Amino acid sequence: MTEKNTFVRMASDPASLIISSEDENATMGDGVTHQDNVSADIMDRLDRMAEISESKKHLTRRCFTPQHRQVITLVSGWMRDAGMKVWEDATGNLMGRYEGTDDKAPAILLGSHLDSVVKAGKYDGPLGILAAIDCVKALNIRNARLKNPIEVACFTDEEGVRFQSTYLGSRGIAGTFDFNLLNRADKDDITLAEAMTDFGLDTDRIGEAARQKGDFLCYLEVHIEQGPVLESEDLAVCAVTAIAGADRMTVTATGKAGHAGTVPMGARQDALAAAAECVLTVEEVAAAHPYAVGTVGQIEAEHGATNVIPGKVVFSVDFRAADDAVRREAVNDLTKRFEDIANRRNVDIVLEQSHSADGVTSAPWIVDAIEDAMTDLGHRPFKLPSGAGHDAAALAEITDVGMIFVRCKDGISHNPDESITREDAIAGAELLLRTVERIGGLET
Ligand SMILES: [Zn+2]
Repeated sequence: MTEKNTFVRMASDPASLIISSEDENATMGDGVTHQDNVSADIMDRLDRMAEISESKKHLTRRCFTPQHRQVITLVSGWMRDAGMKVWEDATGNLMGRYEGTDDKAPAILLGSHLDSVVKAGKYDGPLGILAAIDCVKALNIRNARLKNPIEVACFTDEEGVRFQSTYLGSRGIAGTFDFNLLNRADKDDITLAEAMTDFGLDTDRIGEAARQKGDFLCYLEVHIEQGPVLESEDLAVCAVTAIAGADRMTVTATGKAGHAGTVPMGARQDALAAAAECVLTVEEVAAAHPYAVGTVGQIEAEHGATNVIPGKVVFSVDFRAADDAVRREAVNDLTKRFEDIANRRNVDIVLEQSHSADGVTSAPWIVDAIEDAMTDLGHRPFKLPSGAGHDAAALAEITDVGMIFVRCKDGISHNPDESITREDAIAGAELLLRTVERIGGLET
């Protein structure tokens, strides 16, 4: 049996694009083959999703591109096959629903994101989506219904690569979509509003994607760890306790440019030497605080030349900690130490904050449920905070959140070398299913 994926845009309600399957003898659109819809193996499906890329050389899949549309077509077929009703919401999130026995009960929301960074790995995002689909599929095969419906969200844009936005889709659902972003242009000068319109969405109706507090019992996401801890603990999976808060700053050090040959060492105001001391200070301060990490990822000496003492240097600081109080104290400490460096070296150091977000704590009852499910499945219970941001941070505005991490090789992520094993992918999906069964009252 082959089938065609048809997108029907309802004239009266473009916000809820219905995705239906019709025409059993027709061929499928967008290069989707019959094999895609019958393949049961999670690794095969991860590979199939990774083929949908803007580049032939590496995986790049930004929001509202033709490849985003293509991956929606592919994944919506798998969602339907798993037993879900499928639709697309007003911010382009692909949504699915598997009814429970009580249609008034709040839904258990599962999901992850469809977009990727530039030159991405295969697993950041898609693993969580496929684990969620497998969870519904496993219940459907057994003809099992929980009291609560299950919804699966495949978020439009989590990485924020195209429009320097974060959590575009999950903020749409949380009702915190930033409308100022609509005028922001990508590198080809296409605004977010234009991109959404081209994608078939109506920007006047974005608000309709918002769900209410009480629509969901909780949000659960499976994601690769993107760090090396599970590997060192010899564990396939764990529960996530919190998503770290983050501060990002642009720091400008201004000294005095001069001739490298003529200005004596004692008379210099070297902005780069001051910045170098700041970089090491970021490292020292982060190391001195629990679960804190600090990074200088960009640095540039203005008009850099071999024979010129740098007069102006701009660098970035990214500082994160699982505990907000720890992060604030550390950033305070960092600011004071930058002042000392500026005074001692006779340069100006100005910090400009570009981003500040508090951390989000997983609901303790969800962490408990995940750890109990780990025990059920023979895993040693273990939990970790997440240093990276995830859609759960946006959804915490409207519901309790929790996450499951899956081990990835050498902690590498946001890179083509991202790697997980089939066994670990299955362990993540099974742990999600067991956790959902526990939460939904299926104890057997
Ligand atoms: Zn991700």
